[in-house]
Amino acid sequence: MTDPLKILHDVFGFSTFRDGQEDIVRSVLAGHDVLAVMPTGAGKSLCYQLPTLVREGLTLVVSPLIALMRDQVAALRHFGVEAGSLNSANDPDENRRVADAVRDGRMRLLYASPERLANSNATEWLARSGVSLLAIDEAHCVSQWGHDFRPEYALLGDVRRRLGGVQTIALTATADVSTRGDIMHRLFETEPRIFIHGFDRPNLRLAMQSKDQSKRQLFAFLDKHRRESGIIYCASRNATEKLADSLCQAGYRAMPYHAGMAQADRAKNQDIFLQEDGVVMVATVAFGMGIDKPDVRFVAHAALPKSIEAYYQEIGRAGRDGEAADTLTLYGLDDMRLRRSQIEDSDASEEQKRVERQRLNALVALCEAPRCRRQTLLAYFGETTEPCGNCDLCIDGVVLFDGTIEAQKLLSAIVRTGERFGTEHIISILMGEETDAILRLGHNGLKTFGVGKDRSKTEWRSLLRQIYALGLIALELSEYGRWTITERGVAVLKGLEPVELRADVLMKPRERKSRRG
Ligand code: ADP
Ligand code: ZN
Repeated sequence: MTDPLKILHDVFGFSTFRDGQEDIVRSVLAGHDVLAVMPTGAGKSLCYQLPTLVREGLTLVVSPLIALMRDQVAALRHFGVEAGSLNSANDPDENRRVADAVRDGRMRLLYASPERLANSNATEWLARSGVSLLAIDEAHCVSQWGHDFRPEYALLGDVRRRLGGVQTIALTATADVSTRGDIMHRLFETEPRIFIHGFDRPNLRLAMQSKDQSKRQLFAFLDKHRRESGIIYCASRNATEKLADSLCQAGYRAMPYHAGMAQADRAKNQDIFLQEDGVVMVATVAFGMGIDKPDVRFVAHAALPKSIEAYYQEIGRAGRDGEAADTLTLYGLDDMRLRRSQIEDSDASEEQKRVERQRLNALVALCEAPRCRRQTLLAYFGETTEPCGNCDLCIDGVVLFDGTIEAQKLLSAIVRTGERFGTEHIISILMGEETDAILRLGHNGLKTFGVGKDRSKTEWRSLLRQIYALGLIALELSEYGRWTITERGVAVLKGLEPVELRADVLMKPRERKSRRG
């Protein structure tokens, strides 16, 4: 076997691996199935191209976009690697070249669209020729919960079996937990090695505040960023116009952007934002897709975003140049209610709604997180890190109290009911409520029944989100959204580990203000 580093250098002309690549390459070379989750531009292609060249055999690459396939094939051939593609746009000469090279065993990387593999006898032909590695790019396309579901991707598990259960590497830039679960379940029979890398954006300062005088809070934030370019996201079209107006009155160069504006006005505002310095774009989520302005110095949310993924995407538009950038998200109970009712009122399927609720809950848990925000955010995506020193919680600290007893009450209610129930049922047990479900299941006879009467339901919901943010419980989505206990949760339940929770988010806004003043 050739040394991977030598091929990295000799064939690709790169001197070192990027973060994450080496571990993935080694795992593929060791014969494991792999799921690799890395942001766009992180260098995912190398993770299957390099192992292919280190070993013998043919790698079949599934990719949904013909243009991308063509670029990759051209780049590989430029490096002197025999590569080709099976797609409807090929001319007959090219098809013959590909077929010959596969038959003679010269072909190293063959790109194909999922349609091509699903609808023709191509898979049988490839199975006879022998495929050593199946690489599935844009693997989130198997998930109905993502933004890019493609039915042909659902057939790839079958393609894999028809190729003799060939070793598989799936790659995606979509890190969210439910999509990842979907990929594993649809493409793999046994759990692959999972690698998640590169989601941290250390130059972004993270901060979230409960709204108390939201306009004053926003203005205080903006005052630190005079004459810098930034984006403020609002929840409604109306709110963008009003806020842009008051910012202009306060001497900022601010302009609104939303889907209800005339196309020409929108385009004009966008151009000004892109071309000039120091413009504040006050926008709905309609703004930002495909906008690549490197020196956006801040992103603020005047209201809670739609989900934890939306939050990550939106703050990610700041600091693309790698220089320090600032973020602030304001949230309130009203926002949470609004977001909840948007989910309930949509015509999504029950399953989809469950996923959306979970994504919203994860964001609310991040708002109330009792530890470093970056740790909490990245943990949602599956990455672990040290406390960052660049978020409001690391910098300002939070008011913590010993919440071990509260955590144990919650954990115990979850365990005693067999880890089969969602938030409201668990809280009803703690509150000692004799609901129909509780009476029918006999949960009023549990030892934990009614042990949480000293707190309100609102407080318990927050406490539950906090122990979720700490990773003591996990949400199982396979049936109803039901809570299960993690290893750390077990340790807490056994009294092996204390738990500190946030006191400030449990108090009513009025109490909080008087304490602060
Ligand atoms: P992704 O698929 O993750 O979006 P690509 O595989 O297209 O990313 O890679 C993005 C760019 O990074 C490509 O131009 C590629 O040549 C380059 N690249 C990948 N790995 C390395 C490396 N180890 N050193 C330098 N450049 C790299
Ligand atoms: Zn931090």
